[in-house]
This record gives sequence, C-alpha cells and structure tokens, in this order.
Amino acid sequence: MNIESKIKQTLTKIKLSKRDKILVALSGGKDSSVTAYLLKKFGYNIEGFHINLGMGGYSERCLKAVKELCKQLDIKLHFYDIKKEMGSSMCYIRSSIQHEKKGLKNCAICGVIKKWIMNREARKLKVSKIATGHNLDDEAQTFFMNIFKGSLQLSANSGAITQNVKDRKFITRIKPLFYIAENDVREYSKKMKLPVVYEKCPCALDSYRIQVREFINTLTTKEKENIMKNFDNLFPRIQELKTEEKLKYCGICGEPSRNNICKMCELVNVKK
Ligand code: AMP
Ligand code: ZN
Repeated sequence: MNIESKIKQTLTKIKLSKRDKILVALSGGKDSSVTAYLLKKFGYNIEGFHINLGMGGYSERCLKAVKELCKQLDIKLHFYDIKKEMGSSMCYIRSSIQHEKKGLKNCAICGVIKKWIMNREARKLKVSKIATGHNLDDEAQTFFMNIFKGSLQLSANSGAITQNVKDRKFITRIKPLFYIAENDVREYSKKMKLPVVYEKCPCALDSYRIQVREFINTLTTKEKENIMKNFDNLFPRIQELKTEEKLKYCGICGEPSRNNICKMCELVNVKK
C-alpha cells in the first residue's frame, strides 16, 4: 500500500472529520510538511503553526521553509517566537535549566516546552486538533525507550490519536504518519519537492532517543523488519493497557497537567 492510502486509512481509523479545525505543528522538517501537504490534499481544514526557537541559521532556514510551504498550500500560518514570548532563545533557556538540573537532555527539555506552547496556542486559536509529524520510526524509538526504562505502560497511552485524555483545556493531538516509516516520508517529500529543511536540529546531540536509534541501526535490515512486524502486532495489545487519564490544572500556569505543577513550570518561569 502506498503512503497516501496508508495515511487515509489512519485518518479513517481515528475518525478525523472534515469539520475538525486542525492546527498542523510545522517544524520546517519533512515529517510535519508531508503531514500538512497530505491533510490539505485530502480536503481537511488546516492551518499551520510554527515555533521559532531562535537557534540561529537553522531556525531561519526552518522558518523560511515553513512560510514557503504554507504559501504553496495556501494555508494560514501562525507563529510563536520564543525569544519574543519567553525572553530568550531555546538554546539559552535550555542551558540555564541544565545548569540547575544536570542530566536533563536537550530534546527532553525542548519537547516539554514545545508541547506546552502548542496546547496553549491551539486552544487560543480554538482548533479541535493538533497534528504533529511523528512517524513510525519515532514511535518505535519511543516504544523501545519505554521498554528500556521499564515503563511499557507509557506506550499504551500513545497512538495515532490521544484518546485517553479528555479535558476541555487539552487539545487532542493526532499523528497522521504514525504508521509510515521515516524513509518513506523522506522519499515522498523529495518526490513532491516540498520546501523542507533536511538537516537535523543542531542541538539533538545527546538525547537518549539518539542512542536508541543508533542501537536500532546496528541491526540488520531483516532484524529491523522483524521488529516492525512485532511492533505492529503487539501494538493493539499494548493499547489494551490504556488508562483514562484525569488531568489537573497546573497551580502555576493553569495548563492541564498530570501533577499539581506541570512539567513546563518545573523547568521554566512562565508568563501567566
Ligand atoms: P520533534 O520533537 O522535533 O521530533 O518534532 C516532533 C513534531 O513536533 C514535529 O513533527 C512537528 O509536528 C512538531 N514540531 C517540532 N518542532 C516544531 C516547531 N519548531 N514548531 C512547530 N512544530 C514543531
Ligand atoms: Zn504550569
């Protein structure tokens, strides 16, 4: 099955509606760009959202690619400028956090901050869904990371849609590329000549995810294929472990959170 049909199948499975207003989180990379391209092609109501992380030339190239993509797709683009809104670039915010909390990885910090921003901005824009570009390789890495950390339960709550959290302040997140391998996404975005930044984020150097990816890459192609096959077979069963999550509101910023204080406010002093 080609990638367009596979994605259509995923969208049917998660019951995405043409009445949904979807904010596509656009990084400038291939995955989120293909996500926007195909949602638009299939006739969904989408707008783009880009967070400018203020990381020098890399962020400038990402911003340019996102602007160009939204122009080509004729969709509205919303921006969030970290330097303007939070006072400094992601690099600076991250290193000051790491100064206090040693051992926290770059990608983990950036991930918490981006998710917090996305949910808040999506709610302000009154959209019903946020779409991200996470692909099958990302999800397989997450799955292994959870196994290595002994927290398989976390994988149970992942999926092409966040179904386990129902809260008026939490915007449902969808991952249309959940079943698409990274190489297929790359090939498709090149075939369609999408304006995309193919370089990796310059700060994604030391993440645990990269160690897991490198480990997976030491395996033979056959072994990798077998893992993917098992992953696909296991996934529905792991999802049976799913738990309904009841969220609280963070005592500092008011955003939905599993704990009394959200992960973001544990790391950064945020504007209310
Ligand atoms: P990452 O956490 O960088 O692997 O990105 C995962 C997904 O988050 C991407 O596929 C995008 O949908 C979204 N994303 C990442 N970076 C940004 C950004 N700077 N602005 C908007 N969305 C982003
Ligand atoms: Zn908070």
